[in-house]
Amino acid sequence: MGSIKPSSYFSNLSNPMLRLLSFYGVANLRNFLVGFFGNLFARISDLIPPFLLGVAIDSIILQNKPFSIPFLPNSSLPQYPIPQFWFVVFLIVSSFIISAILHWFRNWGWNSFSQNIQHAIRIDTYAHLQNLNMDFFDKKHKGELMSILSNDVNRLEIFLNDGFNSIFRLSIMVLGIAILLFFMNPPLAVVSLVTIPLIAFFTYNFTKSIQPKYATVRATVGKLHSRLKQNLNAIQLIKLYNTESYESNRVEKISLDYYHANWDSITTRIKFFPSLQVISGIGFTMTFIVGGFWVMSGDLPWIFSTRRLYAGEFVTFILLHQQLVWPMTQFGQVINMYQRARASTVRIFGLIDENNLIYEKSNASELTIDSGMITYQNVSFGYSEDKILSDISFTAGKGESLAIVGHSGSGKSTLLRLLLRLYDANEGSIQIDGTDIRDLSLKSLRNKIGYVGQDIFLFHGTVKENIQYGTFDATEEEIIQSSKAAESHDFIMNLPNGYDTIVGERGIKLSGGQRQRIAIARALLKDPPIFLFDEATSDVDTPTESLILNFIKTRHSEKTILAIAHRLSTIQDSTNILVLQNGIVTERGSHQDLLDQRGLYFELWHSRNT
Ligand code: ADP
Repeated sequence: MGSIKPSSYFSNLSNPMLRLLSFYGVANLRNFLVGFFGNLFARISDLIPPFLLGVAIDSIILQNKPFSIPFLPNSSLPQYPIPQFWFVVFLIVSSFIISAILHWFRNWGWNSFSQNIQHAIRIDTYAHLQNLNMDFFDKKHKGELMSILSNDVNRLEIFLNDGFNSIFRLSIMVLGIAILLFFMNPPLAVVSLVTIPLIAFFTYNFTKSIQPKYATVRATVGKLHSRLKQNLNAIQLIKLYNTESYESNRVEKISLDYYHANWDSITTRIKFFPSLQVISGIGFTMTFIVGGFWVMSGDLPWIFSTRRLYAGEFVTFILLHQQLVWPMTQFGQVINMYQRARASTVRIFGLIDENNLIYEKSNASELTIDSGMITYQNVSFGYSEDKILSDISFTAGKGESLAIVGHSGSGKSTLLRLLLRLYDANEGSIQIDGTDIRDLSLKSLRNKIGYVGQDIFLFHGTVKENIQYGTFDATEEEIIQSSKAAESHDFIMNLPNGYDTIVGERGIKLSGGQRQRIAIARALLKDPPIFLFDEATSDVDTPTESLILNFIKTRHSEKTILAIAHRLSTIQDSTNILVLQNGIVTERGSHQDLLDQRGLYFELWHSRNT
């Protein structure tokens, strides 16, 4: 299943369910056909016992009519009541067995159809999501995205499992039985089906009113998830600031919004189903009254019929009518499920159609590093209207290290993020070895850069898995070497299970400095030609920091390194230092040059080193 196909090929279909089925449904046509035909034939075999019951009553028990069974030649049927009776028993038992086998096919077909679709749409949506631009994630709550990927996809699965299958099952039953009733006794069929337009009218109104209500329910549940996820992530902060009751109130408010939205849809729904049952009941009662009088009086000229209605025929008719009434009331449930699934599908396609992608040229070239020269040429950037970086220019080549210094919020991290194309510069250009990074494939660009940021992310897994992340083919020896270089090996060996110790969610079981050193080991293992360090050693004690930096400098003399550091002692040996103030480079030069300039660097050097 192609990952972005659903959006590009079928986005012109305005009905989301049609769009879903025209792509994913067609891909699973075989399962659909097994389900559909299993359904059709199972329903037909379900209709056989009531038929045979009527025949048995009229021809064997009451002996009003000659013994005959449709589609079977009379010559092949038994002649006497007792063999006829056993023959009918045999047919009924056979129909039950065949029906059971057909139901197995029906269930296999529908379940595999819905499971395949929910799986494919979840991985397609996730794959697309991963390619979206960072500013999409800046604006969206992760909890809401989670809610779409889990809840909405599950809801869709429920519909495909139960609802979609039911549409066919019910349609087959209603249509099939209606035709059969007309075939058996047209006037009585008219009486029994007279309520159908009324059911259609109620259903239409229900659909119209419930649709927006379900959309609201889906939106509020997304917000609720988002709040819960944020709060669970911030649980320590909540405890430290004693904001438990404040947060409980916030959760309560959003949960109440969800409650009200849900309750609104429930009240509409619970009015609808009993109304349908009443209407269906009226149809049944009318059929019973008319048919009952007909059997008792022999004929009923007032409904334009002078033919007799036999008791057995009437029993068959009533049993079939019952089978018709029940699916008609089920239609409401199916429409209900459909509307819920439709609301979910709209949200899923909302993600798939999200076009906020970092643009990659179709003829993008692969980055191959030659002189490792990074050039920022008159680069300006803002996350929104406000400029964060203005007219930044500098170069740094292989074997050089460039340090960026400045107050918090001056744009240092942003400057590095632009090189990774997490965001694109608004003006100017960034080049590596003379090629604009917008002409490079994203994969090859990010492959050549090792980034260690302030916000270290470790997955819930072992230390080894976290170091190996992204360099999955690394050998044990290489992992240990990188860890030694990042001054991590010793503390890792002291953990209960060494490299196999589980670090907990986000690395909660490790200290900040340990987490940073694992992240550095991860970057060193990747061994890229360009390193970006954004306060990568801020939580590490100074002697350890020096050990790491010295190692990097000597082992990686061929690399280009851009580094942001709070502790200026860390970067004093850099080839070049840029000082950023409010997104503008105000000073540049070597450590000594900058001290001599007696500007902001001089101030920072004295304030941070005293
Ligand atoms: P520094 O690394 O120098 O502390 P940053 O580059 O992180 O500064 O941030 C520079 C400015 O950009 C700050 O004012 C910050 O609020 C803003 N900023 C950072 N990240 C984002 C973002 N994802 N969306 C909007 N504004 C941001």
